[in-house]
Amino acid sequence: MNALHTSIHHSTVFDHPEMSGHEDVVFVHDRTNGLRAIIAVHDTTLGPALGGCRVWPYDHPGDALTDALRLSRGMTYKNALAGLDLGGGKAVIIADPRKDKTPALMEAFGRHVERLSGTYITAEDVGVTTGDMEAVARQTDHVRGTSATGLGDPSPYTALGVFEGIKASARHVFGSPDLDGRTVSVQGLGHVGHDVARRLHEAGARLIVSDIHVPAVLRAVDAFGAAAVDPAEAHMVEADIFAPCALGAGLNARTIPHIRARIVAGAANNQLQTPADGHALRKRGILYAPDYAINAGGVISIALATPGGDDTEVRQKTLSIGETLSAIFARSAREETTPERIADAMAEERLARAARA
Ligand code: NAD
Repeated sequence: MNALHTSIHHSTVFDHPEMSGHEDVVFVHDRTNGLRAIIAVHDTTLGPALGGCRVWPYDHPGDALTDALRLSRGMTYKNALAGLDLGGGKAVIIADPRKDKTPALMEAFGRHVERLSGTYITAEDVGVTTGDMEAVARQTDHVRGTSATGLGDPSPYTALGVFEGIKASARHVFGSPDLDGRTVSVQGLGHVGHDVARRLHEAGARLIVSDIHVPAVLRAVDAFGAAAVDPAEAHMVEADIFAPCALGAGLNARTIPHIRARIVAGAANNQLQTPADGHALRKRGILYAPDYAINAGGVISIALATPGGDDTEVRQKTLSIGETLSAIFARSAREETTPERIADAMAEERLARAARA
């Protein structure tokens, strides 16, 4: 195995705009099979850095670095706020998951994870399957989410946490977490969105659903008596709650003026296109549940899974997402700032306490 440092198009890594105190950034080039990867360890104050591995055909290594730095920092905040004793890290492999990904490539990645001696723990992310993680696990124990270590698909736990978060949001805005008779627009009916819709339906909510994949819409209409709407209009409909469960950046200058719901609470990552969009929501009196707080059920299930498959602790921690959000909302009202700013502050405070201890 040969590793060497590759060059990137920024003048130096240290002055990269996304560099924010990262502890380690490892550039991997495995000559045996051409693996090119970046492993970014942002912060290990709370414990080893846990974060997924993304396989993506980046046009330029610089874009891969930007992603690795930004996503690893995000994991520090997510893990800290979720109450996990884990730091934040992320890996990106520069490859097309459909064409270039082979067991040998993933095994090579596993060997490089092993070289970090447990500072970084890897797991699935975009472009990576459980099968790929099995290949990684042949080379290192510092991996989660394999059939031997995990509870399987994290989506049901993500959905459970999102449902708790929607109830906490309803309590804050309407004075009651009861969703019976409330109308919720669920945008995106994939692994998480469909399960969120099921829980909402069981709680008595009326559903308006949307997805670019028509069979997913028909399934929800059939199973939950949901009304269907064009995905581009999901945020505009008359609803109490808008639950974005598709892709990111859906909350922006174009969509926010048209949102009629009083709550935005859903699973999608990176929902706000810019920080200004969070302020715009607050100005309109719309409560926003910070994405990395409400969708932490998945990482909790990956972090705390035990080989025996007992999920008691995972469920407990996931259910506490509701309490975390209630605390965020109360403090954001007191301090007259956005919930996402408070979420960041709470994560930073936990890190500062741990650093002092
Ligand atoms: P998924 O791929 O299973 O589902 C996404 C769904 O969104 C698909 O059905 C797709 O057709 C639909 N979609 C895509 N673009 C759309 C659009 N413009 N309008 C409407 N629908 C659209 O993904 P998932 O695992 O359900 O994850 C959903 C979101 O939640 C993602 O943003 C993901 O990053 C985030 N998330 C997921 C987990 C998890 O455990 N799976 C954990 C944390 C965050």
